[in-house]
Amino acid sequence: MMNKAKITRKLQHEREVVRDMIALYCRNNHGTKELCDKCRELAGYADQRTLKCPFMAEKSFCSQCKVHCYKPEMRERIRQVMRYSGPRMIFHHPIAALRHLYYTQIEKLNSNK
Ligand SMILES: [Zn+2]
Repeated sequence: MMNKAKITRKLQHEREVVRDMIALYCRNNHGTKELCDKCRELAGYADQRTLKCPFMAEKSFCSQCKVHCYKPEMRERIRQVMRYSGPRMIFHHPIAALRHLYYTQIEKLNSNK
């Protein structure tokens, strides 16, 4: 079991990464400087799910979670974002640990079809 400070840090990190991924996806796919309405909606939704997650202490990332708390439409959208932005995020956050995380995430997403 992780202590509270660690969980909070992880939570913050997850929120930042998800936001970054959505921003990257939106910029390159919707050609907007700021998030478009749909992506903003998705970012807000993802943020809420992350904050409300009761498994934050145990799981690594939402996309690897066994409990799929995203409703189907949002889940499909976040999946597209991650498939697109996941591999590209490595260039934005070139940290070995993250790289590993993203790869497992992508693998998991692709095997979850
Ligand atoms: Zn967008």
